[in-house]
Amino acid sequence: MAVINILDDNTINQIAAGEVVERPVSVVKELVENAMDAKASSISVEIKDGGVGLIRVTDNGSGIESEYIRTAFLRHATSKIKNALDLVTINSLGFRGEALSSISAVSQTEILTKTHNELTGKRYVINGGKEAIFEDVGIPDGTTILVKNLFYNTPARRKFLKSYTTEAGYITELMEKFILSFPNISFKYTVNGKIKLQSSGNNDVKSAIFEIFGRNALNTMISVNIQSEYFSMSGLIAKPEVARGNRNYELYFINNRIVKSKMISSALEEAYKPYLMLHKYPFCVLHFTIDPSRLDVNVHPSKTEIKFLDEDKIYDILVDYISESLHEKEMIPKVLVEVCEDKPDVNTNCDRLIKYIDELTPSKEEQAVKQSIVMPEPFEEKKENIQIDIPVASEIESEQINLFDNDFLSKESIKDHKILGQLFNTYWLVEFDEKLYIIDQHAAHEKVLYERLIKQIRNACVVSQNLYPALIVSLTKSEEEVLKKYWDNFKQIGFEIEHFGQNDYSVRSVPTELFNMSEAGYFLSILDELSTNDSFKSPEAVNDRIAGMACKAAIKGNMSISEREAQVLIKELLSLDNPYNCPHGRPTIVSFSKSDIEKMFKRIV
Ligand code: ADP
Ligand code: MG
Repeated sequence: MAVINILDDNTINQIAAGEVVERPVSVVKELVENAMDAKASSISVEIKDGGVGLIRVTDNGSGIESEYIRTAFLRHATSKIKNALDLVTINSLGFRGEALSSISAVSQTEILTKTHNELTGKRYVINGGKEAIFEDVGIPDGTTILVKNLFYNTPARRKFLKSYTTEAGYITELMEKFILSFPNISFKYTVNGKIKLQSSGNNDVKSAIFEIFGRNALNTMISVNIQSEYFSMSGLIAKPEVARGNRNYELYFINNRIVKSKMISSALEEAYKPYLMLHKYPFCVLHFTIDPSRLDVNVHPSKTEIKFLDEDKIYDILVDYISESLHEKEMIPKVLVEVCEDKPDVNTNCDRLIKYIDELTPSKEEQAVKQSIVMPEPFEEKKENIQIDIPVASEIESEQINLFDNDFLSKESIKDHKILGQLFNTYWLVEFDEKLYIIDQHAAHEKVLYERLIKQIRNACVVSQNLYPALIVSLTKSEEEVLKKYWDNFKQIGFEIEHFGQNDYSVRSVPTELFNMSEAGYFLSILDELSTNDSFKSPEAVNDRIAGMACKAAIKGNMSISEREAQVLIKELLSLDNPYNCPHGRPTIVSFSKSDIEKMFKRIV
């Protein structure tokens, strides 16, 4: 028969720790929230080795009275609620009373704390949940908590962590959010001995945005303010031109708590939809004040997902208000690239390339963006590798031909393709051999650019093009880390980037294939995506990924091209090894047979 054991407290705490302390960033979040609950006006966070080696959080808050210090480290010990009734009206950030007990169960923890009324402070050291030292110390009012060697006694969890740089990146992102959400608190954030972020605490969200995102972002922000019977909200939303590649910068705070809310996200995205490309997300910092009794905050252990009683009403008010705010503003993004008058001196192969690109160039403005072509050294020897001629049909694998069970792809049949026209500004309709083919222009364009770029990267003969003036991007610390990590990859792909002082970088040239990428937003979206996806098998995989994202960015929505341009594009698409999918896996071509259509109309059964 199985023996049933009652687990000891230490084991229980280690299990609970799995829920509260997933990685170093969760420790930082809990400790900073505790400091804020203790009414600190100044909080300093220091980490070493991605927070695994050391996390130190110092605040000037209330401190813990000596008689309660041990209690604070017990499970379900909290000064913030007494019973379940208090949950309804709770306004503080943490209240489950699990953070300190969990953290101290899986690390070597030390607390130094002193309240205003006590003459001396206390130092309390707990290793893996066991008390080691409890003694008097002379310290100023407030609390310092040191968390060393996180997960030292739970190796399975430790193995699960990512690299120190990645873990530090998560913490940096969190600190950026804290600075934006609590402009009234002065934060200092130090990584491996160097100060990374510092905020003044002057209670101005704008100066917090300036500190983190720089001047450019600040200039594109629109102030918003709602007073309604269900909630009030104030904050800043960015014009769509600085949209991001993920939801990391949709920052919402409800009653001063950082929250995630599908409802708020979708209201915002709905309002931004007419202005944003697919997979682009708004950048905003919004502070909501809602009567706590109209909220359910205890729905998730890490307390970030929140539920609203008046969900539908709040959604409608938000969509209407934000749509109107965006509508009132001039949303046409600024053209950052100026016409370069001098026709560059380039060799013939390159002339052909430019001519070929010009043929595919969609709009007049873009035609006006004349390029000065920069030749990398290897280009001269390898110019024959720039393949812009269409390969013959025999190069296409037979199995792919089977996919279309006729020779739609063959060079001979291309001249018999009858382009019927364009549908919804996006799809080209082609009739050939009793079939209707529908080609997604954007997917096709993306694919063609991608294949050209990849070929150039593989042959180390990427052709870059200068931007006049260079594109200046202001990066956050976490974006800067991503850029540095992949610096060589960007170089190999044809980006020439230089540090431009402070948090600004100048993108001097881009791969010629991607001359549409002339807006900072596109570049930032690549960094955003790299920051969320960082497990690559090889440097080539990184290059492919960046190239794929860059091509996606270079293809703008509803770009209108002439029938002749479409012909050239389709021809090049069909010459590729795999013309069927864009680099992101979306199909580029679908087909209907005549008999399918006749069946739809019940002409045949
Ligand atoms: P919770 O925050 O959910 O109450 P914690 O385990 O995070 O639980 O903290 C336990 C208690 O310790 C808190 O309720 C608070 O009274 C006290 N405490 C923790 N950190 C601080 C701090 N930095 N300053 C003052 N008191 C603190
Ligand atoms: Mg807490």
